[in-house]
Amino acid sequence: MPDQKPVVILGVFVADTAYRAARAPRMGETILGSDFKLGPGGKGSNQAVAAGRLGADVTFVTRLGRDPFADMARATWKDAGVKAAVIETPESYTGAAYIFIEETTGNNAIIVCPGAASMISPEDIDANAALIRSAGVFVTQLEQPVAAAQHALEIARQAGVTTILNPAPAATLPDRMFALSDYVTPNETEAGELTGMAVETVDDARRAADRLLAMGVGTVIVTLGEKGALLHAKGASEHVPAVSAGPVVETTGAGDAFNGGLAAALSRGFAPPEAVRFACAVAGISVTRPGTAPSMPSLAEVEALLR
Ligand code: ADP
Repeated sequence: MPDQKPVVILGVFVADTAYRAARAPRMGETILGSDFKLGPGGKGSNQAVAAGRLGADVTFVTRLGRDPFADMARATWKDAGVKAAVIETPESYTGAAYIFIEETTGNNAIIVCPGAASMISPEDIDANAALIRSAGVFVTQLEQPVAAAQHALEIARQAGVTTILNPAPAATLPDRMFALSDYVTPNETEAGELTGMAVETVDDARRAADRLLAMGVGTVIVTLGEKGALLHAKGASEHVPAVSAGPVVETTGAGDAFNGGLAAALSRGFAPPEAVRFACAVAGISVTRPGTAPSMPSLAEVEALLR
């Protein structure tokens, strides 16, 4: 794609293993389940896949073990055109998530073991400093240690790279993290937890976003599920409606589609309102398909929807 700058995403890959059964087993008990699915997951990896499918020049920075799930991660990225900056960690294992899905309700209970990715350190970031400095857009979430995310934001900021912090899962963060972020992209729950305010409506989101601006963020984007997203900066606030691409099948990973789409759009020089519309279209398509990484659309599909 012409005129696009590189995107560097720091984050975690986990293999999602989903078990469907009538109920959860009791301690000491074995029960038979009715279905099983194995798929690529992890917020950072999903975001990299989304941006890669959209034709962005993306490199994903992470740690993996040396095991079959690591092979799965590499195959997933290759398929999406994502380059990998992997620190191999044979003493640990590639991240994995156990997802129990209750047959009757569809509700789930999850155990995530980030494995090698929980060892991502500020030194790992130093080893990738040149890569981060060469980016146009840098993205991190909070599944790996916060100290590594913060150090990467420092390096990106010093080099004038546009920084995106997707504060997921919600965590208590040093104030400095906000000051280092050009864009912070919480969903409603995360915006609530970061600010201590209840966020349910667009007006609530605007009040929480004001609080985040006061904490030093450049621009706040609160994703609002089927209500779209709020783009909020000093003196400019715009509610961008969701983009419907058909009946909704599965919303898991909608936020990852949005963040990957946002990074891809900003790397192509889109202005913020245009980038948020683009990201809503990417996420809008992803929710009409099952799965997370496999549901990410191509650039042609997004352009056709926005035309
Ligand atoms: P998360 O997955 O982190 O909870 P959200 O639920 O806020 O994030 O969704 C992220 C984005 O995905 C929204 O801003 C919106 O653009 C899109 N989206 C989510 N749910 C729907 C939906 N039901 N229909 C259309 N778009 C949706």
